[in-house]
Amino acid sequence: MIPIVYGERPFTEIYKYFSFRHKSFRRKTFAPQQLFLNFAPFLGILFFCWLPTLVKNPPQPGKYVLSIGQETMKKDPHPNAVVFIGPPGSGKGTQAEKLKGFQHISTGDLLRAEIQKQTPLGLSCKEKIEKGEMVPDSLISSLIESHFSPKILLDGYPRTVVQAEWLQDKVHISQVFFFDVDVEKLVHRLTNRRVCPSCKSVYNLVSKPPLKALTCDKCTTPLIQRADDVEEVIRNRMRVYQLETAPLIEFYDKKGVLTKLDASKDPDEIMHLIQDKIFKRV
Ligand code: AMP
Repeated sequence: MIPIVYGERPFTEIYKYFSFRHKSFRRKTFAPQQLFLNFAPFLGILFFCWLPTLVKNPPQPGKYVLSIGQETMKKDPHPNAVVFIGPPGSGKGTQAEKLKGFQHISTGDLLRAEIQKQTPLGLSCKEKIEKGEMVPDSLISSLIESHFSPKILLDGYPRTVVQAEWLQDKVHISQVFFFDVDVEKLVHRLTNRRVCPSCKSVYNLVSKPPLKALTCDKCTTPLIQRADDVEEVIRNRMRVYQLETAPLIEFYDKKGVLTKLDASKDPDEIMHLIQDKIFKRV
């Protein structure tokens, strides 16, 4: 046994430690190490009681609050997300292109890139996309998670309540914008939509034509019409939207993060509304 000499009266030791008036302070003979030894057994017991909780919830790096002067910055491992929901062709992609400061994640673009590269994922979902049907959740969630960064803008995800519930545990959703527009207007918009397969810029033959016919203004690549932008498929996508995605409006409204936008307005005006809301200028 190692002999440990504890102080006789722990409370006197505390008093000595903190009191400027005590004779031991004046004589500079107080011993903090003595005080520690007095409490070491209690600290040991506390530590063993806390151990199971510590093992269950290990400390997560970056989860704590840093105070810098007046500003308190919360560092969190979860990305901060803004979500765009709305029917196909309601202008989510166009607005996402304009919004700076967020990494734009479009599940539709990611899936089309997989198809272009002919990956197993791309090949397995090609048929569904061409018919305007939903790709299975299990394929989408791992794809989207691999693109997370601290500030993301989700365009086309979530599309079902199941996806929204999955997302809830993965990111902090600060704003959800719902692009509200009449379905017939959308069918007209989508049949005239052309996209750049290279830089993903979006054009409309009626409302936003390219400067040179069927050529991308930004990278001069010939524009294409998406396989799912033909009327029959568009109508199917609208049906799927009504059935699966529209319930998300109520889901996010209840959480108090939903902003409804009139998506038939001028795109620049819509962008101002989005920026005002995100950067709290109103
Ligand atoms: P979009 O470019 O957003 O219109 O998406 C094109 C197609 O990709 C959709 O019609 C679906 O087949 C598929 N897709 C995109 N996002 C999702 C999603 N979150 N869940 C299931 N399927 C999706």
